[in-house]
Amino acid sequence: MLRFDGKSAVVTGAGSGIGKAIAAALARQGAQVAILERDPEVGQAAADEISQTYDGRATFYRCDVTSQTEIRDVAAAIVSQQGTIDCLVNNAGIAHVGDAATTSEADFDRVMNVNCKGVYNCAHEILPIMVRGGGGVICNIASTVAWFGIGERFAYSASKGAVVAMTYSIARDFVADGIRCNAILPGRIHTPFVDGFVKKNYPGQEEEMFQKLADFQPVGRMGQPEEIANAAVFLCSDEASFVTGSIHAIDGGTISIR
Ligand code: NDP
Repeated sequence: MLRFDGKSAVVTGAGSGIGKAIAAALARQGAQVAILERDPEVGQAAADEISQTYDGRATFYRCDVTSQTEIRDVAAAIVSQQGTIDCLVNNAGIAHVGDAATTSEADFDRVMNVNCKGVYNCAHEILPIMVRGGGGVICNIASTVAWFGIGERFAYSASKGAVVAMTYSIARDFVADGIRCNAILPGRIHTPFVDGFVKKNYPGQEEEMFQKLADFQPVGRMGQPEEIANAAVFLCSDEASFVTGSIHAIDGGTISIR
């Protein structure tokens, strides 16, 4: 069950946090995983660690998801190594705090560029490869903020709402090509993303803010990256063959039982 032997997977932003956990989980299940990351040190370290644990099944490719040219080059390099790309996990993302009035144009563009255009860039370059290969699967990592409003996440929420809409659109347009596309809405997950966010935005109140963020989930804690990775592995697997165009909240009950 949930085996990926002989399959080629791409995970963006896989140098840390949720992306790294997804890359490790796919490699554990037998996939050959391409780790796309903009920071070469972080990306190489993640690939080395996963490769050592899972029989060489991770390779680092430096790229910034905001650059379509870089994604095109990296996708071509992966195809020349692996033959095709069967799974794409669009995970790379950045955070931002601000409401519609306080968010600058530059910050809005920066967040949309990574979180929204990054997903488009990867889909644009990798979908034709999947079509040529006879099918494939995309798993987009959005956020619960695509579905409900929390304070001062204007640009971030807009970008994640767009990811949900792109998920429906891709699922619809490529269903006849044997391509499935789904999204995960993670609740608060304890990763460097959260630690960096707390440090940057609440200096001196880190512990108090961390606890507040943990208590926000009805289960009373943040999730672990592996808890998102388990869902991503299922959605990318052949066992999820009837699942497409669907949105999965993995959030400790945040959306449904507040
Ligand atoms: P991390 O910051 O730990 O990991 C994100 C990774 O993406 C980093 O390695 C980052 O690199 C990389 N990245 C950022 N921008 C780019 C880019 N332009 N090109 C390539 N790589 C890039 O975050 P998480 O693991 O917490 O988050 C992963 C995803 O999950 C994000 O999309 C996030 O929005 C989403 N999410 C996270 C939640 C959480 O509570 N943690 C909750 C809901 C959704 P660098 O360090 O160089 O920026």
